[in-house]
Amino acid sequence: VDPPPTVVRAFRAAAAETPEHTALAYFDGRLSYAETDRLSDAVAGHLAARGLERGDRVAIMLQNSPHFVLALLGAWKAGAVVVPVNPMYKSAEVRHVLDDAEVTVLICADRAWEGYLRETAAGSSVRLVLTACERDLQTRDDPRVLGFERLPVADDAADLLAVARADLPAPAEREPAADDIALISYTSGTSGTPKGATNPHGAITYNAERQRTGHPIPAGSPYFALAPLFHITGMVCELAACFANAGTLVLAYRFEPGVVLDAFAEHRPAYTVGPSTAFMALAAHPGATREHFASFQVISSGGAPVPPALVEKFRTGFGPTLHNGYGLTECTAPCASVPPQHEAPVDPESGTLSVGVPGPDTVVRIIDDQGRDVPIGEHGEIAVRGPQVVPGYWRRPEATAEGFPDGELRTGDIGFMDRDGWLYVVDRKKDMINASGFKVWPREVEDVLYTHPAVREAAVVGVPDAYRGESVRAYVSLRPDAAADPAELAAYCKDRLAAYKYPREVEVLPELPKTASGKILRRELRSRP
Ligand code: ATP
Repeated sequence: VDPPPTVVRAFRAAAAETPEHTALAYFDGRLSYAETDRLSDAVAGHLAARGLERGDRVAIMLQNSPHFVLALLGAWKAGAVVVPVNPMYKSAEVRHVLDDAEVTVLICADRAWEGYLRETAAGSSVRLVLTACERDLQTRDDPRVLGFERLPVADDAADLLAVARADLPAPAEREPAADDIALISYTSGTSGTPKGATNPHGAITYNAERQRTGHPIPAGSPYFALAPLFHITGMVCELAACFANAGTLVLAYRFEPGVVLDAFAEHRPAYTVGPSTAFMALAAHPGATREHFASFQVISSGGAPVPPALVEKFRTGFGPTLHNGYGLTECTAPCASVPPQHEAPVDPESGTLSVGVPGPDTVVRIIDDQGRDVPIGEHGEIAVRGPQVVPGYWRRPEATAEGFPDGELRTGDIGFMDRDGWLYVVDRKKDMINASGFKVWPREVEDVLYTHPAVREAAVVGVPDAYRGESVRAYVSLRPDAAADPAELAAYCKDRLAAYKYPREVEVLPELPKTASGKILRRELRSRP
């Protein structure tokens, strides 16, 4: 079956078929498919009435709340291009996105508007602001995540929910086609200034459909949004996959392990996707039990490396298999995943867990610096061609030409393919450590650290070394009730890795720095003294 051309189309189909089914669950608040459809129609009607044209950019800067979804569907129904913005961004980061994408409509939290965004947006292209209080639409407050007050609506903004409740019809003839740009997704910037990848509607529905058919679960099931919706993984593998399956999207504002576990117990989700660091945090939470995970049919970890020790911990401690999936913003989330009824193999030599196999219409090549295929089993850069690969970066012809020669995405990741077609991601090209001329891939060392019972999170970086050029340094955080000293951890690695690979220095930190999408920021660690 061909996927629907847009998420809006998929949503409307589900709303026609099961209008009373819950589309969005948020603490104790619920919105049905029919209500969500009607409310987002009114948002679209409002935007059009206020002069929004097809293709105009609407920035949405909200956490995982129903407000995000109403804003998103509303903007798409009005023919806009949506620019998701991380709500944790500071002023300069937001301004970069507003200017780069020439955003005209900003939809954000009322506190953020009052707090700093009004100043940030002054003099920018923004001319319409809708604010939301993300505590609305539910009555039970959870002080662990929602400890804030509702503010009066500012004079220079309109209230998103009031707009949604105005019962306006969506403008006619605005609905986008599959090839139109749905999103400008700014890369989370683990490697420099964020660039906007232009994800077409059809790429989103293609990958959502792959997710639906690749991990089949009954229509209407609850999907838990563990990854943030402003990140491509959350947008595609949670929101779009859920609506493609007429499911209930369970939202919990932001990732807080205790809140998430309570929501698992309450909503009994069948499916979730998140970064491996979220699963590490859940596994390490003292309250986590097997029962919390009993309702899951599919749990996938995407967007960040998965240490084999974590998969094992999940299997033995909690029951479900943690599936690995590989993707990038530039390929609209996944481009390789583990097929159903299969277990991803672990490469016997490096101990790396496979990220799966490329999708049916996706061609993955492992190439050398000249773009030539390398032999099976050898390391090279991963290049991807397929219906989910974006046409390029927003208004960046040079970066597009460099990143997508002939339309093929150069991922910047080093990987290899085994004889049976399983793909392995070794590491990012630029994270390689050169210690006395030997290549060290941080991920391999991290995978070893993760097998140590005291280790919760691990990150390995190269630091300048007068003698070796670079030497290997590890940063770890420990499980709540565990103890281990740096010398012991270094010795543990020394016993298990070639002499040039083990970390010469280990430092224990209370917490490792992460992006809002849950990825450990090696860049930040590298610049520590
Ligand atoms: P940047 O801003 O530097 O482009 P990013 O991390 O923000 O980086 P994303 O598109 O969010 O960009 O993430 C894509 C990257 O995440 C991949 O290039 C790869 O390095 C890593 N990644 C994703 N899935 C996996 C996986 N299953 N195993 C290992 N690494 C993965």
